[in-house]
Amino acid sequence: MHEGSTQIIFLGDGMGGRPVPSLGGQTCLEAAATPALDKVAQGGECGYMDPVSPGVAVGSDTGHMAILGYDPSEYYTGRGPFEAKGVGIDVRPGDLAFRCNFTTAEDNVITDRRAGRITEGTAQLAAAVNEAFRDGIQGVDVIFKESVAHRAALVLRGKDLDPRVTDVDPHEAGVEVPLCEPLPEASNNAAAQRTAWIVNEFVHRAHEILQDHPVNQERQAQGALPANIVLPRGVGTAPDLSPFSERHNLSGAMIVEVDLVRGLGLYLGMDVVAVPTATGGMDTDEMAIAQAVVEVARGHEFILCNIKAPDLGGHDGNAEQKMAAIAKVDHAVGYLLDNLDWDSTVLMLGADHCTPVTLQDHSGDAIPIAFYGHGVRPDNVQTYGERACAHGSVHRIRGLDVINILGNYAGTLHKFGS
Ligand code: ZN
Ligand code: ZN
Repeated sequence: MHEGSTQIIFLGDGMGGRPVPSLGGQTCLEAAATPALDKVAQGGECGYMDPVSPGVAVGSDTGHMAILGYDPSEYYTGRGPFEAKGVGIDVRPGDLAFRCNFTTAEDNVITDRRAGRITEGTAQLAAAVNEAFRDGIQGVDVIFKESVAHRAALVLRGKDLDPRVTDVDPHEAGVEVPLCEPLPEASNNAAAQRTAWIVNEFVHRAHEILQDHPVNQERQAQGALPANIVLPRGVGTAPDLSPFSERHNLSGAMIVEVDLVRGLGLYLGMDVVAVPTATGGMDTDEMAIAQAVVEVARGHEFILCNIKAPDLGGHDGNAEQKMAAIAKVDHAVGYLLDNLDWDSTVLMLGADHCTPVTLQDHSGDAIPIAFYGHGVRPDNVQTYGERACAHGSVHRIRGLDVINILGNYAGTLHKFGS
């Protein structure tokens, strides 16, 4: 077996929040029944974490990067490369990678950014788009692949490309599909102009293919919204990240539900373990995820696990749904409490960011966290939540501090000095 305790980071995506009027001013975490999370807080050391720094709202990608010990302000190049890697596209140096949405548009006006949250048929749609671009665009290879639900990824591979271009996604419905343009600082750059032109050509021709595709005809016949346009955004070049095992001298695994974070794990050379019944939705099989963590813990020194569902309720502004998702996280953590050897395991419980239902987006609020297990010095906090964790002895840390604190408890850190 390995030296030191097994280190586990267990995150409910977007689990933290703000007071909700319909819950009598409690947050979803405070109002939900969370016996296992409370047990972690009671036996552990609690506090707050700012993924990057106080007040800065982060995405799931930058949030996870920081918690894994990679400073996003130094290494982040955009979400596109992680999405593309996560769906299985081989992203090479020089490639431009975009995150995409399958979207519904009518007369070039966006009617639903997520195409009615489409769940089926996107593989056929993506295959048709890929086929149409078999010869590329102006000597640039085009690789397009579906991800979970309405998500997809696009990679452009070729010479004279530049990532300094705008998103083809206004992030709202009821407006026209915008054109891709060079960013102001690159407005005179020929490669940026050419990249924008290629992106627009991709969007335009993909729209023609998707408009009349049988999957969309079938959807419309059934009263569903057609996924008739693809909107690329979040462009980035491949980031230069040292492998997790080299940086932290730990064998690392990841059990996560979204391709964005899975892609980060693949970039870091972590073992990304799939759980077939983990859907990334409200119907996810949290017990199978928890069982996988226990299983994977036997062969790894470090595991990061994320259950996506709480973030969805936050984005939908649905407090009941978010509480139900938090209950799922609680079930999974309860299984870990019962099935891991806590004399040789240390846990960090938390989230990658807050997604308050009152905001319906990620906020820059500090995240309630708790460390639990081997070596931890318990404080007096009795429940896991926003108000309770404010009284914990961890006080307020940054995402970058998490891995050192875990390593200290686990006994895997080397002394700084002699
Ligand atoms: Zn997240
Ligand atoms: Zn989110």
